Amino acid sequence: MIKKLVAGNWKMNGSLAANEALLAALQPVPGVDVALCVPYPYLAQLQRRPSGFELGAQDVSEFAAGAYTGEVSAAMLTDFGCRYVIVGHSERRALFGEDDLTVARKASSALSAGLVPIVCVGETLDEREAGEVTAVITRQLAAVADLLGQEGLSRLVLAYEPVWAIGSGRSATAEQAEEAHAAMRGWLAGQGVDAGVIRILYGGSVKPDNAAELFAMPNVDGGLIGGASLVADDFMAICRAA
Ligand code: 13P
Repeated sequence: MIKKLVAGNWKMNGSLAANEALLAALQPVPGVDVALCVPYPYLAQLQRRPSGFELGAQDVSEFAAGAYTGEVSAAMLTDFGCRYVIVGHSERRALFGEDDLTVARKASSALSAGLVPIVCVGETLDEREAGEVTAVITRQLAAVADLLGQEGLSRLVLAYEPVWAIGSGRSATAEQAEEAHAAMRGWLAGQGVDAGVIRILYGGSVKPDNAAELFAMPNVDGGLIGGASLVADDFMAICRAA
């Protein structure tokens, strides 16, 4: 059984004062890996965080260093003690024009610096209704696999985040999540990697009242939590459900 990982994705939320209050209300959850993926400016503040919480970022440059105004490198993230970085979140794909190849390059640059990329994949509602769930997620995964190869693929965390479930209050059902996760794991096995040890998180409207059911699914190895990660009691309840 893979140890579960629950990662909070704060997105573009927070302030020094609000973060302080949130951190003060977090307690370690034994038996579960927990990470906080915070906006870049707060990585410094998060140097002081309760024990048992790993640090992560929400994006990373595909470039290592140099004249790339506004970018943040993977090495800068490790400098601040990050272990994880979210790559290819659907908000970055949809709002900031990241294509499959850019996502793959970002995952590669993260791995090169020793970070664990949390690579997000997932279909839109139109794609689901057209019966294209597996086609979309395997296309997104294949772009990463093509660049990283088997060895790189085996070092990723993956997150299935159906676009229609994000911030909508409409989570995938546990069965829908399980079906997609099982397809992802099957695809990974087909690539010749040890698919049984790769963590596949579910993200999209995970709340205290649906977390346990989602996390009980055999192929759901934890969650990527947006809105509920900003509310200490909710985030703690979700972590305890893992
Ligand atoms: P919500 O939990 O707010 O739906 O966001 C999910 C998400 O996008 C996590 O990366």
